[in-house]
Amino acid sequence: MIRLIQTKMAKKTTHWKTKDVNGMRMMICQNSKPTMSKYSEFAPEDGECDEWSEVGTDTTASLCWRCTARSVNNIRLK
Ligand SMILES: [Zn+2]
Repeated sequence: MIRLIQTKMAKKTTHWKTKDVNGMRMMICQNSKPTMSKYSEFAPEDGECDEWSEVGTDTTASLCWRCTARSVNNIRLK
């Protein structure tokens, strides 16, 4: 159920900044704009995230390993 909801939300996601590094497609963590992020509850405590992650060509949003780790640890799980 949770997985279904997340997939739906991902399709509505805004386009995030990307850049090419040595042929790899990098994307800024969506918590660089916590107000736009679907995972803002996992954003850094002190503000915006500026971590980039390697993504595939069909990726529309990325959550960096730091924020992913926070979600895995369920630090702010409701
Ligand atoms: Zn992040």
